[in-house]
Amino acid sequence: MATKKEIAICIELVGSAAKRNYARSKVLPSIIVAQACLESGYLTSELAQMANNLFGIKWTAHQTPKKYFYKGCEWAVFNSIEECVIQHGGYYNSKPHYYSALIGEKDLDKALTILDESPYCADEGYKGKLSKLIKQYDLTQFDDVKGVKPMKILIDPGHRNNAQDCGAVGNGLKESALALEISKMLKEELEACGQTCYLTRRSENETISLSARPQKAKQLGADLLISVHINSASSAAEGIEVLYKTQKDLAEKVCKGMVEATGARNRGAKQRTDLGVLNGFDKSILLECGFISNTKEANLMSQKDYKKKLVKGIVKGVAQEFEFSITQNQQLDETTEDIDLSKAVHKTAVSGVEINEASWNHMNRMKLEYVPGLLKKLGGLDYLIEEEVISNEELWRSGKYTKKNVRSLLIKYANQLG
Ligand SMILES: [Zn+2]
Repeated sequence: MATKKEIAICIELVGSAAKRNYARSKVLPSIIVAQACLESGYLTSELAQMANNLFGIKWTAHQTPKKYFYKGCEWAVFNSIEECVIQHGGYYNSKPHYYSALIGEKDLDKALTILDESPYCADEGYKGKLSKLIKQYDLTQFDDVKGVKPMKILIDPGHRNNAQDCGAVGNGLKESALALEISKMLKEELEACGQTCYLTRRSENETISLSARPQKAKQLGADLLISVHINSASSAAEGIEVLYKTQKDLAEKVCKGMVEATGARNRGAKQRTDLGVLNGFDKSILLECGFISNTKEANLMSQKDYKKKLVKGIVKGVAQEFEFSITQNQQLDETTEDIDLSKAVHKTAVSGVEINEASWNHMNRMKLEYVPGLLKKLGGLDYLIEEEVISNEELWRSGKYTKKNVRSLLIKYANQLG
């Protein structure tokens, strides 16, 4: 028997993870917690202890690299409880034929009935057992998810490619171009976490005035505006700072995330009341990612790996503030069972686009020669660019895309379906 303390720890750990993951899984957190309590004996089972496996998830080569042998079977090993909860929620989403009614169902009784009648359920009286746990431990406390939906995030690559307003220049680099690259990577990474992202400009040729940037955030009803900039001062100045007007907590978290990810000097979160972007939209922060005037930092910022670190740090800070799960960057090879992809393809198909789900919901089965046909069905290249589903226009026009590119295109397309 689990002790009172073990029970409380289990509920808190799984409950907070399930809540953070709700924007992606759309399965009521109270149910996930009750399942974990029941199936892992409040995290005391051997599988929970040795493999962070709370739900008896069998190992498959596509799912986790490591496996654990127990009672003659191979079980999936997760790095954390969070990772296990994400996988478990993803499972329901990957089986739309059985669980589409469960996804998004906010009526607890209805959701439990759907589970009880599903093929996953081999347990007599499963609904009753879960119900009892939910009542006993007041697990609906985690279901306060009315407002939990993908955030709308507007990312603003500072400046533009214009002689008057390209921002800072130095060490052969231009602020507007660097900011654009970082912004595009940030968009991709936040979208991988289930958020819906937009850019204020998608190319160096696009012109947009300073005041139009926060204006666009208002029009979109954005939850957050992130303006991306590069600093400039003397050649000795270095480090990262995040500017805010009202969003102090967020700015501090993002700054810390960026500094930890890169090892750059921490110049801190700073309040500014004189900046157009911050004044024009309340829920905004402005990142100064490093100094273009500093040879060492400029050199780092020109490297893709360093930009990745910056982006990871930004995402970490935003995820902490808004309490969503960061997608574990799975090593996606073509054989990986890919819940996000099959979810996206299914969503696209049910939205009325006539695509063959089986050809596109697994990278293993994709055929690149059929991609032009796919693009047509999705509305054509021009439409996809206009809708900001495609940001790297040259890649798609040149036909040099890979299966991974097709995967992220489909996921973005499905995200835009709302
Ligand atoms: Zn700037």
